[in-house]
Amino acid sequence: MNKKKETAMFKQPVSSSDFDRNFRSEVMKHPDASGLSACFGCGTCTAGCPIHEVFPEYDPRKLAKMVKLGMRKQVLSSPYIWYCATCHNCEQHCPQNVKFFNVLNVLKNMAAKEGYAPSCWIQQTEQVAKTGIVFSTEEKWVKKREELLLPSLKLEGKDAKKIIEFGGVNKIKLKVNFE
Ligand code: SF4
Ligand code: SF4
Repeated sequence: MNKKKETAMFKQPVSSSDFDRNFRSEVMKHPDASGLSACFGCGTCTAGCPIHEVFPEYDPRKLAKMVKLGMRKQVLSSPYIWYCATCHNCEQHCPQNVKFFNVLNVLKNMAAKEGYAPSCWIQQTEQVAKTGIVFSTEEKWVKKREELLLPSLKLEGKDAKKIIEFGGVNKIKLKVNFE
């Protein structure tokens, strides 16, 4: 999905038909996101977010508000929830002690279950299941390590595969492609 389309999607006018009254409680029932009820929309999270500086349309305060309004589809299908750099700035400065980074994790898990996740994340999961590591490592580097008498790097993802299958990540069927 290109940047123009992402921006346009996030700027659609809000209509009451967009509201899902269960969404807010579904999100906040997760212990990691329960603190969101204390958010009073001050915007300190957005002001200190390094991703917001680069992509002004990525706005933690706005996402928090959208969750509270019940804008389920707009939030879960938004590529923006995957933009977070996991720096924790937002929660360190929040006057209400909202752990927004954790809220995003809850949203990402919910999004993935509903088929919204960047396809590169799914590819990485497959890579981990196959080799046990996130980034692809070519056989030649494994051999090079052996030549240099470095500890051998076993490309073996058996245990990781079990964990991935236990979490159901291998069953995610993507509805959209954010690439
Ligand atoms: S800093 Fe905290 S209270 Fe302020 S908008 Fe962000 S999450 Fe809400
Ligand atoms: S943890 Fe994510 S949302 Fe919070 S400030 Fe960092 S990049 Fe922004």
